[in-house]
Amino acid sequence: MARLPLVIYPDEILLRKSADVTEIDQDIVDFVEAMRETMYASNGIGLAAPQVARNIRIMTVDVEPDKGGSAFMHLINPVIVESYGKTSYDEGCLSFPGLVAEVKRRKQLHVQAYDVHGKLLDFEADGLLAICLQHELDHLNGVTFVDRLSPVQKTLVVRDYLKRREEEKEDEQLAEILRVHGVASAKEAAEAGDAVLRSVHGQRV
Ligand SMILES: [Zn+2]
Repeated sequence: MARLPLVIYPDEILLRKSADVTEIDQDIVDFVEAMRETMYASNGIGLAAPQVARNIRIMTVDVEPDKGGSAFMHLINPVIVESYGKTSYDEGCLSFPGLVAEVKRRKQLHVQAYDVHGKLLDFEADGLLAICLQHELDHLNGVTFVDRLSPVQKTLVVRDYLKRREEEKEDEQLAEILRVHGVASAKEAAEAGDAVLRSVHGQRV
């Protein structure tokens, strides 16, 4: 299955609580595989189903992506049974391109979930894995990492992010207009403009 398109904040899919998976059928097996491919292709260490437009409780994780997939995990209907201690980490998110923010998390977790074979997974996690699991589990509850910041911090960070997105969108729209008009770059556009001016004025400008 091909790589799935990522859902980008502020899409409301990211703000919805996801439903439990009630039956692990071929559709779910294929979807987990597509999530795995999408996560690696996007250079992410974790991915939650809402980030690829499905509000169901599935996540994929690999906090050691340089180990050739040996640290890959997929969790269906994950639950944090218990959590201990405190930590914080500069987190990023595939649904917030370019944004990094320090988020407070629990340090250690006891997690239960199912795999695609319906087998119960029951394990302890700490370090980056514990952070990543909490980040992805938040996604399944319609919570994004900016919701873990103080209200003041969240306002500032989201405002900057949305402003940058808007600017990037305008740049993309301009590039698209140039492409439609057969002009590849801003430099070429300027040169094309000069040529128009030259023809209008009958001289080099
Ligand atoms: Zn995320």
